[in-house]
Amino acid sequence: MPLLFLNIDQLDDNVNSLVFLLPFVLAAMYAIFIAARYHYWFRYRPIEPRYKLILEKHFDYYRNLTPKLKGAFERRVSLFIRGKSFYGKEGLEITDEMRVMVAASAVQITFGFQFFQLPRFSKIFIHPTKYFNPQTQKLHKGEVYPMGRWIRLSWDNFLYGFGDPKDGINLGLHEMTHAMSLENRIRTNEAHSYINPQAHATWEKLALKEIEKIKRKEKSLFRAYASANLEEFLAVSVEVFFEQTQAFYAYHPALYKATAQLLKQDPLRNKKNGVK
Ligand SMILES: [Zn+2]
Repeated sequence: MPLLFLNIDQLDDNVNSLVFLLPFVLAAMYAIFIAARYHYWFRYRPIEPRYKLILEKHFDYYRNLTPKLKGAFERRVSLFIRGKSFYGKEGLEITDEMRVMVAASAVQITFGFQFFQLPRFSKIFIHPTKYFNPQTQKLHKGEVYPMGRWIRLSWDNFLYGFGDPKDGINLGLHEMTHAMSLENRIRTNEAHSYINPQAHATWEKLALKEIEKIKRKEKSLFRAYASANLEEFLAVSVEVFFEQTQAFYAYHPALYKATAQLLKQDPLRNKKNGVK
C-alpha cells in the first residue's frame, strides 16, 4: 500500500506550502474576477443619459425594442461612440446627436450579430451636404472605404433618411449595410465571415433574380439603383427591409425571410418578441 511509505514530515510540508500559497491563489482569482468585471463594464458600460434621450426622441427602431433589448442596444451605441473617431468636415461641428444617430444606425444593422461593432471602420467623416470625390469626379451623399478604414456621410441626407421612417430611403442604413457587408468579405479583417454562408447563398440567388427583374424594367418594390450590383441591391433592400417591412414581406416573402436570416433579425417580430 503506497500509504505506508508516506513520510509524515513530508505531508506536513506539503500541507504547509499549500496553506502558504492559498492567499496568493485567492488573490489571483479575485484579481481575475475584478479584471473581467472591469473589462465588461469598460466595454459595455451604461450609456450616458443625454445619449439615451436622443435615442428615445429620434430613433424608432430603439423605441420599438423590448426593455431588455433596449439595454443591449444602448450599451452597443455607447461602445460604438467610444470606439470610433468622428470628424466634422467643411467646418461642421460634431454634435451628440450626430454621434448617437450614426452609432445607432450601425448598431441597428448589426444588432443580430453578437457584440459586432464594424471594427474595420474606425473613422466617421461627416460633411454638411453632398461632397466632391476627386477620384470619381462626382458629388457623393455617402460612401465607405475599407482601405482608409472610414465611413463618410452627408449630414443633410442622413437626416433626410430618418426624417421619414416609412419611405424606404435611408442613407445611414444604406452606408452601414455596405460597411457590414465589406467587413464580412475582407478576409484580413478582425471580423469576417460572420454571415452564415448558406443564408448568404439563399439570399444571393433570390437577389440576382430581383436584379434581373429591375433591369427588365418590370415593376419592383426596390428603386432602380438596387440593380447596379449585389452590394447595392443589399444596401437598398435593407433600407426597405427596415422602413417598409410589411410591404417587403407582402411583395416577396422568400426574399424578406432570406434578408432576415442574413441579418439575423426580423423587424416584423421586434415589436412583439424582440429581435431574434
Ligand atoms: Zn450604395
